[in-house]
Amino acid sequence: MSGQRLTILGATGSIGSSTLDVIAQHPQRFELFAVTAHSNVTAMEAICQRFTPSYAVMVDEQAATRLREALADKPQITVLAGAQALLEVSAASEVDQVMAAIVGAAGLAPTLAAVKAGKRVLLANKEALVMSGQLFMDAVQHYGAELLPVDSEHNAIFQCLTTHAQTTLGQVDLEAEGISKILLTGSGGPFLNLPVNELNQQTPAAACKHPNWSMGQKISVDSATMLNKGLEYIEARWLFNCRREQLDIVIHPQSVIHSMVQYSDGSVLAQLGQPDMKTPIAHCMHYPHRRSSGVKALDFTQLGALTFVAVDEQRYPCLRLAQQACWQGQAATTALNATNEIAVENFLAERIQFGQISEVCDRVLQQLQMPALGSIDDVVAFDKKVRRVASECVEALT
Ligand code: NDP
Ligand code: MG
Repeated sequence: MSGQRLTILGATGSIGSSTLDVIAQHPQRFELFAVTAHSNVTAMEAICQRFTPSYAVMVDEQAATRLREALADKPQITVLAGAQALLEVSAASEVDQVMAAIVGAAGLAPTLAAVKAGKRVLLANKEALVMSGQLFMDAVQHYGAELLPVDSEHNAIFQCLTTHAQTTLGQVDLEAEGISKILLTGSGGPFLNLPVNELNQQTPAAACKHPNWSMGQKISVDSATMLNKGLEYIEARWLFNCRREQLDIVIHPQSVIHSMVQYSDGSVLAQLGQPDMKTPIAHCMHYPHRRSSGVKALDFTQLGALTFVAVDEQRYPCLRLAQQACWQGQAATTALNATNEIAVENFLAERIQFGQISEVCDRVLQQLQMPALGSIDDVVAFDKKVRRVASECVEALT
């Protein structure tokens, strides 16, 4: 594998910058074709000065104008504006790999554009898969895209699968592979040991202070509610073609084991590593080879105990909602994802309290009629509708 050209969707974010760090370590192997962001001009300018990609996309038009001015001394870089340009740099014929690292539903269309162009798609943007499930996996198969999971748990599971199972992602027959269970691990987030009656007073800053991982704000709040684990449960269902009884979650506060696969002979395979996303990112970028990610190996003499506990459902009502929605049908997971995005946005803006995130999700899911979603257009239209209902629900609470 030589000279792989990459587009990074969401280059200014946490996953985006870890991806850039991996590229910087292997300048002969990877070439940056395009980087995209929403509106962070300062971060985008720094990326462009450091890497000189061919294209830089800002979804926000004014941000694009400012970036063009800032890059006046770099005529090699074409600055594009608007959401349509995301699709173009995802599907461009020059591109080999697309890192899908936009946060939230905004990532669906450009990630699908990469899928439809048959690219190697490195999937961090779990919301895209949660909101479109089977439709997304069908598109991967239909267009011959190569989907590789970046999310650390799913990357860990992927690493614990046989080569045959890896190449049939989405259609894998777990039983035929001798797999009895997929075990997702989760740290429990920053509020694992807080008395349950103190959860509601927690501020956005406290919710974003994850004990083990450094991540964007939205996923950090999702980790505190454990809705992140719920989204990952749904993500795992689609990636590994699981039935309900084949998928479980266990709390592992140290985040050393990133997930496990239990085989029918009693063996359990686990993937271990530092809580640093450069490991799964580099794994996907170099796959099927193994090369340096820049992450230090674990020092087992310094690790201490690895512990595991069952999930406390009372503490994490969002997780239960996600597990229910997962087996209820596509519309339920689309609705949960959209409602959660609205609720988290309002929690971060200090308009609702921490405990109201689950309350909004619960109310909206109960209130909605769940239609059949037969196409991506149906998904997008339903997502829009749910956002309106969720915003009204937030208004009613505030
Ligand atoms: P960040 O918030 O750090 O970054 C988000 C990126 O998306 C930024 O580049 C941002 O641009 C861009 N963006 C935001 N809104 C839009 C929009 N409407 N249209 C286009 N681009 C947009 O997020 P993370 O890097 O933490 O997470 C990215 C994805 O990866 C999420 O889906 C998350 O669940 C997943 N993930 C993240 C992990 C992590 O460790 N961070 C681990 C596993 C999965 P701008 O800077 O201009 O706002
Ligand atoms: Mg994860």
